Amino acid sequence: PTEVERLRAVHRTVTREGLPSRWLSSEEVARRIPGVSTAGILGGSYLASDGTLYPFPVIWGLFEAVRASGVEVCLGTEVYRISARDDRRLSVDSAHGRLDADCVVNSAGGWSSEVARRAGVDLPTRPVRHEICATEPLKPFLDPMVVRASDGLYFSQTMRGELVGGISVPHTEGLGPGMTTSAGFLVRYARAVLGLYPALRDLRVLRAWSGYYDESPDGLPILGPDPSLPGLVHAAGFGGHGFMLAPAIGRLVAAAALGERTAELAPFAPGRFANPSAPVRNREKLSLG
Ligand SMILES: Cc1cc2nc3c(=O)[nH]c(=O)nc-3n(C[C@H](O)[C@H](O)[C@H](O)COP(=O)(O)OP(=O)(O)OC[C@H]3O[C@@H](n4cnc5c(N)ncnc54)[C@H](O)[C@@H]3O)c2cc1C
Repeated sequence: PTEVERLRAVHRTVTREGLPSRWLSSEEVARRIPGVSTAGILGGSYLASDGTLYPFPVIWGLFEAVRASGVEVCLGTEVYRISARDDRRLSVDSAHGRLDADCVVNSAGGWSSEVARRAGVDLPTRPVRHEICATEPLKPFLDPMVVRASDGLYFSQTMRGELVGGISVPHTEGLGPGMTTSAGFLVRYARAVLGLYPALRDLRVLRAWSGYYDESPDGLPILGPDPSLPGLVHAAGFGGHGFMLAPAIGRLVAAAALGERTAELAPFAPGRFANPSAPVRNREKLSLG
């Protein structure tokens, strides 16, 4: 019942924002996700306007588009140091040599606080490792992405038929073991999926990997000019949401990089953490994966 209440609260918020969320009975949940075991399902919320998008083709498409428009992309080029020059421009020391710029955007994901440190500024983000896996392909059987609030379980079926998803496990903080995964994650995820779909017991996992959620103290992104280093703009702290937020964030941060002030960015200003004794807004507790 507690979980139902939490989900109903999400449903109310989403509805208030004008999205077509629907509350489903357990029978309706079973119709939306055919073959699911209804044991223990008390209800669910369904958002027909949601969709699933896979990052790899999007990133590739963006890469081709920016290159075609004349942007030089330096892949695998580490930034070592960002410093202010006398003429108020910034100087970036990198594996590609030194670059001078009016503006530098720190969009280094899980490494955002490290890159900030290399610019001599503090950014209170921290990387938290999250795991994910993909199975061998099945015939299409699942349309919506399925999410369970109580344990952070989520999965969806790709156009190739693979089941891609994850579940919350105790996560490691810090830049540590790269993209590795753990047996503990696979066991927990497999148990949770089989609890809903016992018929999938012979399904094999083809690959598993991990990455970082870049977490800010209040769970909101950190966007806009750094208060102490003119010319440095942050786009960080996206947690597990950075991919879907990217189109909107990209436009807003580009405007900030050009020196425009945008009211929409105000709640996300980096300066909100400047006073360490100021209370931090309550974090959203619903976390997937
Ligand atoms: C398992 C998992 C599942 C996720 N699922 C979702 C989801 O369903 N929906 C969603 O919206 N988001 C999801 N996310 C979150 C999403 O992946 C991130 O929020 C998003 O990738 C952040 O994008 P970014 O461009 O800010 O940073 P990143 O994509 O992390 O890119 C940062 C780049 O900076 C580079 N870099 C780091 N240090 C330096 C340096 N010193 N010099 C030069 N370059 C440097 C890194 O190599 C990296 O390429 C998930 C994340 C994980 C780990």
